[in-house]
Amino acid sequence: MRAALLFGREDMRVVDILRPAPGPDEALVRVVAYAPYGTDIGHYTNRGGRYARAYPYGVGADFSGIVEAVGSEVTHVRPGDRVTALALNHCGKCAWCVKGVTNLCLDAEAISRARQACCQQFTIVAANKLALMPDAVSFEQGAMLAGVVVALNGFELMEVDPARPLVVIGVGAMGLAVIATAAAMGIGTIALGGTGGRVDYARALGARVLPLESYGTMVTSEALAISPNGFDQIIETTCSDWGLKQAVEVAGRLATIGVTGGGALPDCVWDIVLRQLRLVGISCGHHQQQALDLMASGKLKLDTTISRRFTLDQAPEAFALLAGREAADIGRVIIEIGAA
Ligand SMILES: [Zn+2]
Repeated sequence: MRAALLFGREDMRVVDILRPAPGPDEALVRVVAYAPYGTDIGHYTNRGGRYARAYPYGVGADFSGIVEAVGSEVTHVRPGDRVTALALNHCGKCAWCVKGVTNLCLDAEAISRARQACCQQFTIVAANKLALMPDAVSFEQGAMLAGVVVALNGFELMEVDPARPLVVIGVGAMGLAVIATAAAMGIGTIALGGTGGRVDYARALGARVLPLESYGTMVTSEALAISPNGFDQIIETTCSDWGLKQAVEVAGRLATIGVTGGGALPDCVWDIVLRQLRLVGISCGHHQQQALDLMASGKLKLDTTISRRFTLDQAPEAFALLAGREAADIGRVIIEIGAA
């Protein structure tokens, strides 16, 4: 069968390879449509050496096709079925999978299983990732499923209010999917990004777009001109430092920022995405009275952490102590400056 493989950085060649056979829990699918995302382009350019692995290898995860053959344990799809698949693997048995939240699968072995490569005539897929496509869904639409799934998950996790604008950072493959899904759900969007024709695609979907003069420029002041106190629901889709910075700068007080996944993210941010963590900024708040009440109740034992008391004249000694190695052994220090 014909397959587009990467043989090195920006070295893609279409070659003949052996058609694989499905394992017991796998399906062999004849690929009809494949829609590349930014992560696939990251593999192609091997941006920052981040994607380097043993060449050659096949690319792409988001596709649709027709089941050609299935393994012995596969029952929910049959040859001839029109199907689409997600990129992430799951076990189907752990507590999260049983609840249907397969993207939070706890089975390390299942989720580390090799993903399908779909820029080729046939692909092997873990059969539990396949979904049947209704007749009204075209193969092209089915190949673009992942962005819509991400968007719907984001709207739910972020508790997006359809009555307020949703800011979308980026108008690439994921950004357009978020904007289109928002439009379908009656959510208005303001998109930040785009230097060329992608801006028109975003506008045609109904977004108000603030394009960039050139790649990497900031448009936060234009956005804040629309809403001087910032926005309260923002989805970042570029997986870049630029995008995260834009998202934070246009965020108002107590805003919710959703971050979508992509290979270009720093590892720690990627972990936040995959485990759907909620990273909450916490400043010293407005709870003085509650704190004082806790102290007065006697339930709060913070005073037991005081290990040393100094006078004002002893302040240099106190600072030397706190800055030195002995600091590891002491709790809080109080400098008694005046008489009570
Ligand atoms: Zn699982």
